[in-house]
Amino acid sequence: MKNFQYINPTSIKEASNLMISFGESALLYAGGTDALSLLKNDIYTHSKIINLKKIGGLNSITHNKTSGIRIGSLTTISEIAKDETIKSEYKILHEAANEIASPQLRNIGTLGGNLCQSPRCWYYREDFDCIRKGGGECYAYEGRNKFHCVVGGGPCYIVHPSDMAVALLALDAKVIIFSEVGERTIPINELYVLPSENSSQETILKPGEIIKEILVAPPGQNTRSSYIKFKERGAWDFASVSVGLVLEIVAAKSIIEGKAAFGGVAPRPWTDDKFNKKLSGLALNETSVSEALNSLLNDSETLSENAYKLPLVKNLTKRSILNLA
Ligand SMILES: Cc1cc2nc3c(=O)[nH]c(=O)nc-3n(C[C@H](O)[C@H](O)[C@H](O)COP(=O)(O)OP(=O)(O)OC[C@H]3O[C@@H](n4cnc5c(N)ncnc54)[C@H](O)[C@@H]3O)c2cc1C
Ligand code: SF4
Repeated sequence: MKNFQYINPTSIKEASNLMISFGESALLYAGGTDALSLLKNDIYTHSKIINLKKIGGLNSITHNKTSGIRIGSLTTISEIAKDETIKSEYKILHEAANEIASPQLRNIGTLGGNLCQSPRCWYYREDFDCIRKGGGECYAYEGRNKFHCVVGGGPCYIVHPSDMAVALLALDAKVIIFSEVGERTIPINELYVLPSENSSQETILKPGEIIKEILVAPPGQNTRSSYIKFKERGAWDFASVSVGLVLEIVAAKSIIEGKAAFGGVAPRPWTDDKFNKKLSGLALNETSVSEALNSLLNDSETLSENAYKLPLVKNLTKRSILNLA
């Protein structure tokens, strides 16, 4: 592990300025549950570690009936999981938070770090100089790719690892990004990039930009939501496939409108606009739901070991819809 300097800014502005002045040698550090293992394995080789945890005011959840919830980026996953309003009004977030890692990791890992964590591809995490690390080859493409993506891949085939990002995408959350020049608010859908756009970075964050808060609008009167995650191991594990679903339902008969987001299938949290449109007006019975699911992820391109994800994503989505009904 390379020696590094550990710097403790006390304001987000100071942290952002440090990022800019140190350039590529600087790394933001929140709970460290992902960053530290990458530093230890020399995947990250930064020499200036900017600790965010001394910055006040970024670790709370505030509720407002008209504007919804605001979650500071240093809020831990545990705090999100145990928040009573989130549990009753944003069940999808509560369920996603509870699906993440182990209790110990949830106590330390933050929302900002969860959204910006690095991919889990086993070649990337080991000693392979693949495309994501600036090399010329994707070892997963013709190698072991059981957990890699089925849609949106190329030239790199990672899946995005964050459960919170999938749930927040289904909720159409917004991300407040701080930078030296001010703040900007973007839909979470715009936070992530595909490898075809940038194969070495997962988000659009520029040097000096820090996720400050996440905003989620208040739920409608008839909103129901859920997060289902299929993982290979019964204990903690990343998603083989996950489905976050937010539906407006009338009298358990039909859907007014809805949005589904998927994890474990693409290099970024994924949604399918054509499928979301089909949810509007969909009758809540098994035949209609199965028909609507026929075309889901039709543009997929499976690798040698991961075609199992297609029936899995359809079945999990069907189960989610019928459960919510
Ligand atoms: C064994 C294990 C199992 C796990 N299982 C799951 C799982 O099932 N589901 C899941 O979703 N996650 C899982 N995780 C990931 C875990 O949730 C994340 O490691 C954690 O949430 C990251 O938060 P952190 O505060 O520790 O981030 P750090 O490790 O401190 O940072 C992670 C990255 O985010 C960047 N960053 C941190 N905060 C900000 C910010 N505010 N703005 C911009 N960039 C920022 C850092 O620079 C770094 O690149 C697992 C991790 C481990 C180690
Ligand atoms: S999937 Fe991406 S991270 Fe994994 S080996 Fe291929 S290029 Fe590297």
